[in-house]
Amino acid sequence: MAISKIWVVAEPTEAGLTNTSLELLTAARSLGGTVEAVSWGANAAQSAAVAGEYGATTLHDVGDLANALPGASVAGAIAGALAAGNGPDAILIPTSYDGRDIAGRLSAKCDLPVLTNITGLVGGDSLTTQHPVFGGEKIVSAHFTGSGPGIFVIRAKSFNPESSGGAAAAVSTLAVGDLGGTNGATVVSRHVEERVGPKLDEAPVVVSGGRGLGEASAYSLIEELAKQLNGAPGASRAIVDAGWVPYANQVGQTGKTVKPDLYLACGISGATQHMVGMKGSKNIVAINKDPEAPIFTVADLGIVGDVHKVLPALIELLKAR
Ligand SMILES: Cc1cc2nc3c(=O)[nH]c(=O)nc-3n(C[C@H](O)[C@H](O)[C@H](O)COP(=O)(O)OP(=O)(O)OC[C@H]3O[C@@H](n4cnc5c(N)ncnc54)[C@H](O)[C@@H]3O)c2cc1C
Repeated sequence: MAISKIWVVAEPTEAGLTNTSLELLTAARSLGGTVEAVSWGANAAQSAAVAGEYGATTLHDVGDLANALPGASVAGAIAGALAAGNGPDAILIPTSYDGRDIAGRLSAKCDLPVLTNITGLVGGDSLTTQHPVFGGEKIVSAHFTGSGPGIFVIRAKSFNPESSGGAAAAVSTLAVGDLGGTNGATVVSRHVEERVGPKLDEAPVVVSGGRGLGEASAYSLIEELAKQLNGAPGASRAIVDAGWVPYANQVGQTGKTVKPDLYLACGISGATQHMVGMKGSKNIVAINKDPEAPIFTVADLGIVGDVHKVLPALIELLKAR
């Protein structure tokens, strides 16, 4: 079935749409056909301006959901459009907590299949998807064989967001309909994780530390180097599991995917589950005392040495600049 209309679930934030939403809008543009966004929140006009800039012609507005989680309303609204015959040929959804909630609910409500963990999309008569398996060692391709619109759940950083320079999308109301008892949960409070410097998954420089740091207190070297480089501190799962740093800092398969201009891996061995989250970085520098460490296979520059000597020396040099 040819893809002539794609809907992208575009998640709003106070500052506009999430980066992953912009990545998906950009990817949708390259697949041919019309690109439209589905969004919600108090500021539809702001979202429509951003969605239009990234290629959407229409923004289907589910409305201000106040303190409700978006899953039930957004899935219900899309399901309503599909039932009325006004839906798209494909629905792209970001891999996020809300995105996965929307995808699961939509799949169950409409009896439609879902493809998840997608990192690549190839257009054509039907969309072909790419999924990393075995920690990114292999890529599996898939496509839907049925007739209904496919639901595609796509990982962050799979595409580069690029503005199309388009005008604001036209805003059209997408009715939610009766959700019965499914919309009972209310958000009663929000906690914003404290952070200094840029967000890990948006920072141009990421400095990550691993078990080679030896002890939790040595992570301050990672934070200091990240600060000197205007970057964000990251971590391997080993030191997150050890309780040295919060999960929000974790890079990898079960953490964040990052694609900075510069990624410094310090005392990290380079397990496939770590590398799948950082090997798309433009430049990779690894510091490890083991010359055989797998991280060196993806590094552009490798320093065989002790992090306790190399990191203080680097910090000192940067401070002296
Ligand atoms: C399902 C699953 C999901 C996972 N998801 C993730 C994930 O999202 N992210 C992730 O990171 N991991 C993940 N892991 C864990 C992963 O397999 C590794 O165990 C982990 O990445 C190892 O962390 P590390 O490199 O810090 O530690 P280690 O593998 O122990 O490596 C430490 C490195 O430090 C070096 N070193 C030691 N001392 C020094 C020193 N003084 N100076 C310099 N170098 C030194 C050593 O040579 C070694 O290479 C996952 C595992 C599974 C099974």
